[in-house]
Amino acid sequence: SVAGKTAVVTGSNSGIGLGIAEELARAGINVVLNSFTDSEDDHALAERIAKEHGVKARYIQADMSDPDACRALIEKAGACDILVNNAGIQHVAPIDQFPVDKWNAIIAINLSSAFHTTAAALPVMRKAGWGRVINIASAHGLTASPFKSAYVAAKHGIVGLTKVTALETAQEPITANAICPGYVLTPLVEAQIPDTMKEYDMSREDVIRDVMLQRQPSKEFATVEQLGGTALYLCSDAAAQVTGTTISVDGGWTAL
Ligand code: NAD
Repeated sequence: SVAGKTAVVTGSNSGIGLGIAEELARAGINVVLNSFTDSEDDHALAERIAKEHGVKARYIQADMSDPDACRALIEKAGACDILVNNAGIQHVAPIDQFPVDKWNAIIAINLSSAFHTTAAALPVMRKAGWGRVINIASAHGLTASPFKSAYVAAKHGIVGLTKVTALETAQEPITANAICPGYVLTPLVEAQIPDTMKEYDMSREDVIRDVMLQRQPSKEFATVEQLGGTALYLCSDAAAQVTGTTISVDGGWTAL
């Protein structure tokens, strides 16, 4: 059983990371929440999850754009049976106008952080004799969209990193997989709606249906609970031979 194991979820004071932490906690897994902030709300979130699900929950501040902070997060966590690399940001602009600092930040937070946390976590998992690395990629880890060069590059990169992690741990009780969500209505996506409304001169409803969900055949957002359930499956014994692969939760996006 996975109850009593410890999960470190990067970027988990909001959105998908929080949803995954919550579903893991519901299954009795102790969770370490993380983001780059260090507010009362952040720590209160961990307290709420601990109380609600009867697990140990802690919030540890660490900026995933900083390699040393990524490695320190795993050290401070003390245990890391399950590593969920979820922290991510987005910026949308054509390549020739893409701000260099945004490119660097997206590659650092969405891709390099997973390399650093994985490097720090694998020895801990090996010592414990069990481990799960779950990387939150995207439908954009498998397909592309214009104006998302850094994001698409980082997400394709994390799918590659996932495969290498799986090969290096193939003969150990450790697996590494990537979850590829389509659109999920989180703060990250919510923030894209006003710009897209302006760009196409469209209403909020039209942006959601005709732009965001244009490539999602189900015409529905995936939910953070569904992604939490997918992560929990990857932690289960049933998924012990599932490694080095991607699981799409995208309403059919990548089938098109
Ligand atoms: P979100 O903005 O709600 O959450 C992102 C999380 O990352 C937040 O907790 C934020 O605080 C954290 N974060 C950002 N910068 C950080 C940093 N420097 N250090 C530590 N934490 C940092 O967005 P979300 O939609 O929940 O996205 C979570 C992940 O899911 C991202 O990797 C994103 O690319 C991926 N994803 C999202 C969607 C979607 O439709 N929402 C689809 C596919 C993939």
